[in-house]
Amino acid sequence: MAEFHDNPLFATFARADIRVERGEGVWLHTSDGRTFLDFTGGIAVNSLGHAHPHLVAALTEQAGKLWHTSNLFHVPGQETLGQRLVEASFADKVFFTNSGAEALECAIKTARRYQYVSGHPERFRIVTFEGAFHGRTLATIAAGGQAKYLEGFGPKVEGFDQVPFGDEAALRAAIGPETAAILIEPIQGEGGIRTVETGFLKLLRQLCDEHGLLLVYDEVQTGVGRTGRFYAYENSGVAPDILASAKGIGGGFPLGACLATAEAAKGMTPGTHGTTFGGNPLAMAVGNAVLDVVLADGFLEEVRRNALLFKQSLASLADRYPDVVAEVRGEGLLIGLKMVVPNTQLIEALRKHAMLAAPAGDNVVRFLPPLNVKEAEIREAMGRLEAAVADLSQSQSESSAA
Ligand SMILES: *Cc1c(COP(=O)(O)O)cnc(C)c1O
Repeated sequence: MAEFHDNPLFATFARADIRVERGEGVWLHTSDGRTFLDFTGGIAVNSLGHAHPHLVAALTEQAGKLWHTSNLFHVPGQETLGQRLVEASFADKVFFTNSGAEALECAIKTARRYQYVSGHPERFRIVTFEGAFHGRTLATIAAGGQAKYLEGFGPKVEGFDQVPFGDEAALRAAIGPETAAILIEPIQGEGGIRTVETGFLKLLRQLCDEHGLLLVYDEVQTGVGRTGRFYAYENSGVAPDILASAKGIGGGFPLGACLATAEAAKGMTPGTHGTTFGGNPLAMAVGNAVLDVVLADGFLEEVRRNALLFKQSLASLADRYPDVVAEVRGEGLLIGLKMVVPNTQLIEALRKHAMLAAPAGDNVVRFLPPLNVKEAEIREAMGRLEAAVADLSQSQSESSAA
């Protein structure tokens, strides 16, 4: 028998001392009787908050009918959800996965395979950007290129060339005869809510078209309404050839998707790719229920309206506390504060005011409320933020006076 340890779990997560028992909407209730205002949204996953009645009903109804058959057969809900994604985006074809990293794996394989069947088997390299996050599989840590995620896991998967964020000269230099595609998040999420300029996305599209490369977007965090558009690329008008989606698309149920044009997906023929769980009936039922809400008339408009209120309130806070907050970043409800003090200080201070927020790179605090957050809940959040930031400002001036 294994040696006894206090905690049987891998020590990979530094967890906060919060044991959540129940959630409803934007609220989380812990087993020791505390209630938190949840602006982490399961890291952009709980797109409609906790225990949304329409999602609960869809999952429960499907649970009584059929859980799993495998992709040997037609799976209930796959064609409906696929068709709805196609109609709401640039894509013609969809492959369902269980996670973001798997959606990226599918995107990477689809891009390489496209070049292979187009008479360019030598083209397999993919240009990516510093600060990116694409997941934790062996290929996606190579794509993300962050040393802290690569260290100790053997040789880095071959074929990813990383260039500095927004660096046109480095980008041009990185494109060679073996390049297959360019992979980018329209807004870096984990990297610190860094928005790629529209002009840069246009340049990527132009370079891809000139050199016969595919443009691949990682919209795992930005997708399905998070930025106030169904997919964030609509903000720029620059469409990709392939797109990885996950997180919010399942509203909390594990679901991802790789979307592609028919041309980009032409190499993905029977037997070339597969999955046991991907596109499972439970996930399809919930994914369809999420789209019932997000694609309903006026829903995304309301997201943009609330996002504007939130952003303006955050900007006013940043103006009034320049000793604590440096700037507001983001689009829609993927929004954050770049901090002057360490971001962990604000996250801790907020917790004392019973509000939860998520850290991001570049010393940013991320706010990812549900897309259906109410105006009153944003005002509630601002009250708690105001109090937490005032606490930090107070201790800043005390420490500088001492
Ligand atoms: C979270 C995330 C991923 C990885 O998704 P998993 O579901 O954790 O595998 C990939 N790309 C981006 C942009 C993400 O935010």
